Amino acid sequence: MTSLALQAAAVRASADTSFATFDQLGLHPALLRAVADLGFATPTAVQQAAIPAALPDATGAAADLMVSSQTGSGKTAAYLLPLLHALLQASVDAAPRSAPRRGARWQPARPRVLVLCPTRELAQQVSADAIDLLRHARALRVATVVGGLPYQQQLQRLQGADVLVATPGRLLDLQRGGHVELDAVQHLVLDEADRMLDLGFADDLAAIHALTQSRGQTLMFSATFAPRVQQLAAGIMREPRQLTLATPQQRHQHIEQRLHWCDDAGHKRRLLQHWLRDGELQQAIVFASTQVECDALADELQQAGFAAVALHGAMPQGVRQRRLQALREGRVQILVATDVAARGIDVPTITHVFNYGLPMKAEDYVHRIGRTGRAGRSGIAVTMAEPRDRRRIAAIEALRREPIPEHTIAGLEPRLRPQAHRGTGAGRGRGRPGAGGWRSEGARRATSTGARRRY
Ligand code: AMP
Repeated sequence: MTSLALQAAAVRASADTSFATFDQLGLHPALLRAVADLGFATPTAVQQAAIPAALPDATGAAADLMVSSQTGSGKTAAYLLPLLHALLQASVDAAPRSAPRRGARWQPARPRVLVLCPTRELAQQVSADAIDLLRHARALRVATVVGGLPYQQQLQRLQGADVLVATPGRLLDLQRGGHVELDAVQHLVLDEADRMLDLGFADDLAAIHALTQSRGQTLMFSATFAPRVQQLAAGIMREPRQLTLATPQQRHQHIEQRLHWCDDAGHKRRLLQHWLRDGELQQAIVFASTQVECDALADELQQAGFAAVALHGAMPQGVRQRRLQALREGRVQILVATDVAARGIDVPTITHVFNYGLPMKAEDYVHRIGRTGRAGRSGIAVTMAEPRDRRRIAAIEALRREPIPEHTIAGLEPRLRPQAHRGTGAGRGRGRPGAGGWRSEGARRATSTGARRRY
């Protein structure tokens, strides 16, 4: 056994102690150098829990894990680091592998690590993170397979890939075409598993599970362990250990949440524009409910003089990538987006998230607000709700088991009483989702204008 394997074994044996530094996690020196280059001083909570639990033991066996985690928590490095460590360790033990020679006969890719993601954006972000972490271990190759990008270009990059990050549908297309063989996959990761189920990938996941039967480890990361996620895990994992990191209430403690009740669409627009002029705002994502609303709102904001662009799933992939790049480089200040398009966006300078069109599903609220307050910074998530949205607000509050604090802005207060919006007036509120015992008016925060308002 190599000294690294011994180190890893020691880490697993004491997996319940806390790991204040990356060095204590016993990771490969090339990864430790990369982590230091990236400026990660200490492992985040999910990294402290998941890295030792996912590392191989003295015999090389590695446990299956289900990890509840939110985006922004450092979850990507939490699974990439132990898996890249395992690959680097295996490469030390095995004979050196030569990179494909120019003009050599074309061979299908046979990755050893396969990461599945629900969206192109998340897959591209995960690949970029893997490349960053492997900057001092250039013998390992990372490839990405996502829908919407030219087939030929992806095929070229697949050659000799050790780590493959993919969306399920395009991966199966390439596998059926004989471009990828999945029988060498040792470690399978399902990132945002709940989201993959939402997007209808259950059958694709079952097919990929069957094609990677000889793998030794499966890791599943999900915002929730809802029954459908548990059911998926039961089908594809072996006695997984569950790591629950944050309850819905504990999450997003560094994100200030605010709820504004609006009388109508015009009131909502005025409030949004008021907020967009906030001096504290560096960059923002404004969420729309539909692609049509997304385009219309981006146009309207541009006409009002804001540096805003739209991003949604119906746009060509090239346009989406250029817009995301412009956001990362700070050339765009406001991104108006739909849920799917904004998944996985990781731009630390996003200070504000606006829920202009409310999410269809309460879980999406959690994903949306996680676009701000990234990498240890603080952020503000502002939700603008009309009276007809009150059921959706109740569902979000029930999921998170806490109310979103209500705020008003002087001169832009709603004409209707907040209680009327909430649907708690006489004769209202019966059957309201989430109308449980957790909500107390007294617990609601003061308005932004100072003392609690009376109407
Ligand atoms: P993720 O939850 O994987 O989307 O990561 C969110 C952000 O945190 C990314 O910008 C990472 O580069 C950053 N990050 C990950 N791990 C650490 C760490 N240990 N210290 C500081 N930042 C980190």
